[in-house]
Amino acid sequence: MLTRTTQREKTVLVAGGAGFVGSHLCEALLQAGRNVISVDNYLTGLQRNIADLRGFARFTSIAHDICDPLEIDGPIDAIYNLACAASPPAYQADPVHTMMTNVLGTKTLLDLAERHGATFVQASTSEVYGDPEQHPQREDYRGHVNCTGPRACYDEGKRAAEALCFDFLRAGRADARVARIFNTYGPRMRPDDGRIVSNLIVQALKSEPLTIYGSGQQTRSFCYVSDLVRGLMALMDASANPEMPINLGNPAEFTINELADKVVALVPTGSPRLYRPLPCDDPQRRRPDISRARKTLGWAPDVTLAEGLPRTIDWFASVISRPARPAGMARQSAR
Ligand code: NAD
Ligand code: UDP
Repeated sequence: MLTRTTQREKTVLVAGGAGFVGSHLCEALLQAGRNVISVDNYLTGLQRNIADLRGFARFTSIAHDICDPLEIDGPIDAIYNLACAASPPAYQADPVHTMMTNVLGTKTLLDLAERHGATFVQASTSEVYGDPEQHPQREDYRGHVNCTGPRACYDEGKRAAEALCFDFLRAGRADARVARIFNTYGPRMRPDDGRIVSNLIVQALKSEPLTIYGSGQQTRSFCYVSDLVRGLMALMDASANPEMPINLGNPAEFTINELADKVVALVPTGSPRLYRPLPCDDPQRRRPDISRARKTLGWAPDVTLAEGLPRTIDWFASVISRPARPAGMARQSAR
């Protein structure tokens, strides 16, 4: 006698699914055949980020703040927690809510993972290293965070969220995994988001002054969003829990002045650079050591800044209105 086994498609919940990274993750998961539930309170996320995903019958979106209790009918196999404003101006606008999102919200989702037996991936951050004294940053570095400063709601919130994940893991309550994400950029960042990549591109496209905080000699390492999404999925799909946090980022390090040079090379603008005071506790150097991700997940980024920046600029150019450019200022090719 023939027996027919039907294998249920996996259902994945993405908290923060309408955000910049979350919407790309939802899209990649749908393309991989998963059922996807986005949970988002639209604090910084946008309906338009997931508009195209509504065409998939396997996509559902729920408007919900993860600080509030959450129950979902039906199976959930995996939960990604990306819910938290990521831009410094956005997460500092309501710091208490940011802290609660990271602590209460992460607990809400870990409880959900426990009830459903779902694997859990937490979007942590390079900010857990604060203004680092070790360079590049390895996961065993414990960081240099000002726990009373304006970035603390995010940095300490994310550190507390990591602690919760490892407490749930040690107690056998959830298969929780932690990715420490370094600066990521790409299409669907909000033009008004306030982060460096979006600010410089929008300013250049609008022929407005380019705002540089401090001397512009501080560094960041920029990861293209598709690389990050691949890394998050590799962490979720790893057969064994790594039982330690994993850096995900692109180790190529640039000063903010160098980034501004690259944007201007692609979007020629006569705009001056406007040097502003460096925000409090702004990290001076940041670069991931990704040895652990290479070894544990077989992951490394593919997309260089020279490839990712023009793609991002093209996307911003398609969504923002800008003043007419003087003749002869066409965008130059990537360097
Ligand atoms: P984003 O602001 O675009 O996305 C965050 C999403 O979470 C938004 O859609 C927002 O509306 C939602 N959200 C915020 N608080 C919520 C709450 N209480 N309940 C439900 N939804 C809530 O930011 P992003 O760049 O896409 O970042 C996604 C995640 O990755 C964040 O957790 C962030 O801390 C982490 N991360 C991002 C970067 C980066 O460079 N993009 C770097 C390090 C860590
Ligand atoms: N920055 C800047 N001009 C801007 C926005 C940011 O010079 O218009 C600087 C900021 O002070 C920091 C770096 O760029 O040193 C990266 O800032 P972002 O907000 O993108 O990310 P984070 O500080 O969280 O890494």
